[in-house]
Order: sequence, then C-alpha cells, then structure tokens
Amino acid sequence: MAECSAGCRNGRPRGQTARMALTAAEIHEQLSLILDRRDPAATGTVLGAGSDDLEAGRRYLEALVEGGWMVPTWPVQHGGRGSDDDEGRRISSALGDYESADLYPYGVGISLVGPVLRDRGTPEQQDRWLRPIADGSEIWCQMFSEPDAGSDLANVGTRAVRDGDEWVLTGAKVWTSRGAYSKWGMCLARTDPEQPKHRGLTMFAVDMEDPGIEVRPLVQVNGDRHFTEVFVSEVRVPDADRIGDLGGGWGIAVETLAHERASLGGRAFGGSDEDEGPIPGWLAGLAATGRLHDAVARDRAMQAYVLDRVSKLTAVRAAAAAKDGVPGPEGSGAKLRSVAAFKSRAYLLKDLSGASGMLEDADGHLEFLTAPSMSIRGGTDEVQRNIVGERVLGLPAEPRVDKDVPYADLRKGR
Ligand SMILES: Cc1cc2nc3c(=O)[nH]c(=O)nc-3n(C[C@H](O)[C@H](O)[C@H](O)COP(=O)(O)OP(=O)(O)OC[C@H]3O[C@@H](n4cnc5c(N)ncnc54)[C@H](O)[C@@H]3O)c2cc1C
Repeated sequence: MAECSAGCRNGRPRGQTARMALTAAEIHEQLSLILDRRDPAATGTVLGAGSDDLEAGRRYLEALVEGGWMVPTWPVQHGGRGSDDDEGRRISSALGDYESADLYPYGVGISLVGPVLRDRGTPEQQDRWLRPIADGSEIWCQMFSEPDAGSDLANVGTRAVRDGDEWVLTGAKVWTSRGAYSKWGMCLARTDPEQPKHRGLTMFAVDMEDPGIEVRPLVQVNGDRHFTEVFVSEVRVPDADRIGDLGGGWGIAVETLAHERASLGGRAFGGSDEDEGPIPGWLAGLAATGRLHDAVARDRAMQAYVLDRVSKLTAVRAAAAAKDGVPGPEGSGAKLRSVAAFKSRAYLLKDLSGASGMLEDADGHLEFLTAPSMSIRGGTDEVQRNIVGERVLGLPAEPRVDKDVPYADLRKGR
C-alpha cells in the first residue's frame, strides 16, 4: 500500500502489507483480552454530563491505541489499524459490548477534528496531531460559536491578521465545550472581511496554553463545568497550523459539523447503537421496576421505543448516504431523530418516577437536566430542519439577503 499522505484514509506504515479483515468473532476474541464485558442492563454515560474524569478516559484510550481499536479506520502510525469502513463498523459495534470510560472529554478530537485532519490535514499535521488524539494525550475543543455567531455561524467576527509566517488572532468565543482542559482549539476566524461572510473564513489550530488565551468556565444546570467562554487576545498561530486552504474555513466548518451531527445522531460515546436484543435495557429496566403498571405508562414507553428505533434506523440511512466516510446533510436528520428519542426517554423516566423523581439522585435525573441542551448543541433543531429541507429534500432555500455582501459592509447585531 502506498505511503500515507494528505487524503489517505487507511494507510499503513512503510513495509507493512495489507491483511485480512477481522470477523466479528475475531474482534471479540482480541477485545476480550484487554476489556471487560459490559453489563447490558447498565445505563451508558450521558455525553459527559456532570463528569469530567479525564484520567479514566485516558487510561481506556491508552489500552486501545496499540491495537488501533478506538479509531480503526485511521492509519496504523496515527493510532488506527488501517481498517476499511466495514471492519471499522464491526469494531465500533463490538466495542459497545465492553466496559468503557466516559469519552466525552475526548469526543471533539476523536469524532470531529480527527476525521477532518485525516481528510484535509497536511502530512505534518496528521503526524503531529492524530496519534495524541487517539491515545488521549491531547484534548481538543471546537471554537466556532461566538456571541453574534451561533445558528448564523458564518457571522464569525474573530479576526486573523497575517504577520509573516504567523497569524495574529483576536476575538471572543462562547459555548466552547471542553475549553477548560483542552490543549488545542479548532478555531474559525475571519481572514478577509472584504469577502462575503462565508468566503473570508479560515480554520486554525490554536494552542490553548498560549498566554493570550483566557478561558472562563460556564457552569450548566446538569453540573457540567467544562463549558466555557474563550477570550483570544493577539494569539500568534504559525501558518503551518492553518487547517485547510486560506479562505476555505467555511467548508472545513461544515464538514466538522457534519461529523458532529453524525456522531450525535449515531453511536453515543459510552453506549452502543447496535441491536440490544428485542427489548432495550432501559425499557426492560422500566418493566422490571414495576413502572409500566398502567396503560398510559405503557403507551408512553412504546412511543419512546418507536422513536428510539426510528432514530437508529435513520442513523443507518445517514451512514449509508455518507460518501467516502464523510457524512452528508442526512446526518442532520439522524441528529434530529436521536435528540427526539433522547428527550422522550428522559422525560418518560422522570414522569414515571413519581415524587421520588424530585430528588437529585433520582434515576435519570442527569438525562432530564441534559435533555434541553441536546436540541441546541451541534446546531439547533430548527437549523437541522432547514438543512434537511434544503439539502436532502431539495425544498426552496430560505431568503438570504446578505450572501453576496462583503462581511465588512454587513449591519452587525451590536
Ligand atoms: C451543550 C452545548 C454545547 C455546545 N458546545 C459548543 C462547542 O463546543 N463549540 C461551539 O462552537 N459551540 C458550541 N455550542 C453552541 C451551539 O452550537 C449554539 O448554541 C447553537 O448553534 C445555537 O446558536 P445560538 O445559541 O447563538 O442561538 P441562536 O442562533 O441565537 O438561535 C436562537 C433561536 O433562533 C432559532 N433560529 C436561528 N436561526 C434560525 C433559522 N434560520 N431558522 C429557524 N430558526 C432559527 C434557533 O433555532 C434558536 O431556537 C454548544 C451549545 C450547547 C447547548
């Protein structure tokens, strides 16, 4: 196989020959040597809610990296095992059967930045950044949103001004999950305000330990403390740390968000999206604890079950529509369905808990407190519907009056 370069997805190191893909049984045989089986009735983690246990995740990733199990489709030298997509899916599915740590802190690196670097990074960037993502030694955050740029992300105002071989970045980001403990931030910045807003943007990797970075925590209702505002004051970034082309930041952002939506819509970290048998663990748990005793409770449980199944089938459709492993707009549909299923389960659990549900340690309390944010993170439900309408169903686009106007001439919110 040819030596890996930018755009190479399944490369092996020099001298290593192609090997036969592993069957599911062979994968289990090898995983069972390093991991313990998961109790199928145990509930998974809730997207890191209330837990920022970095060490447990790091130990788990360290255990997986030698076999390339966490990111199987990445090249071996970058912490993967050069699997094709089919073997990669078999491995991801098998992993769901074993005990795992809460990987939320590592999610942006593994599911968003890693795949984008694999497809768009230079060979030097891939060598520098991919392996530390795979083994958990470097955490990434996503510095996209700003006070005036959320759903309208192309309105980003953080400036990047060229100075020789460096860029000087200044601005303010908000809602930066994991900002409190990240080593790197994938940062969308404006390099040319004279271009219309989608065209003058460029993506950079920012060293979060730079003295010009100030991270202020924002505590969420579910106890999360990794949520932050990030102030960027004249931070110097080498041009070598620019991700993608100058002025190509919007395309990189869209691709990153597609990976995020596919990840939110598919296999949630710490759990499995595979068939868990005829009755999923959460439903069996409700029945076993006597909470489906009346017809109304059973009806609600069935509605939640149907949403759950629809969500998993939609994720399969979105994965099938992905081109060369890069998710398309169908991922927005998968995210919408998975959010609906998550909320339905969370509210059902709370409603069936009776008076004890008011206690902080009630079963499903964390899910209940986390549920509203699911409709916002990774792009709101309304924005996902716009994407499905315009880019999947081909419906007429929303009117966009500022599409061809230079960013510098736009009327700003403040
Ligand atoms: C838990 C959580 C984690 C997050 N993590 C990150 C992160 O790590 N990095 C990051 O960069 N950002 C992050 N975000 C930010 C998130 O991407 C934004 O909050 C989201 O895109 C919405 O932007 P906004 O908050 O500015 O709301 P706004 O864009 O101001 O939207 C307000 C309301 O208007 C609606 N709306 C806006 N435009 C339209 C339209 N065209 N059509 C229909 N309705 C519309 C929205 O749906 C929403 O209901 C996170 C958010 C949450 C809640």
